[in-house]
Amino acid sequence: MALEPCKECGTLNSTEAEICLACEYPTKGRVRSNWFKWIAICLALLFGLPIIIEAIQVANRQINPQPSPPSRIPIQ
Ligand SMILES: [Zn+2]
Repeated sequence: MALEPCKECGTLNSTEAEICLACEYPTKGRVRSNWFKWIAICLALLFGLPIIIEAIQVANRQINPQPSPPSRIPIQ
């Protein structure tokens, strides 16, 4: 029985083990959590984009302050 380091966390596991005992990462090559990573990225974009857009709008407002109402020019 040989030991091999986990690709994810480096813990030595038996080559006969199907998943890492420490982090449950599959040792047999198949990446289980790949799709999970993409869902996490999509969720981050979904919640992150409105915050970024809001930040840009706030920054624009600070650069271009609200135009003051046109002052009345007395007609002579
Ligand atoms: Zn591991």
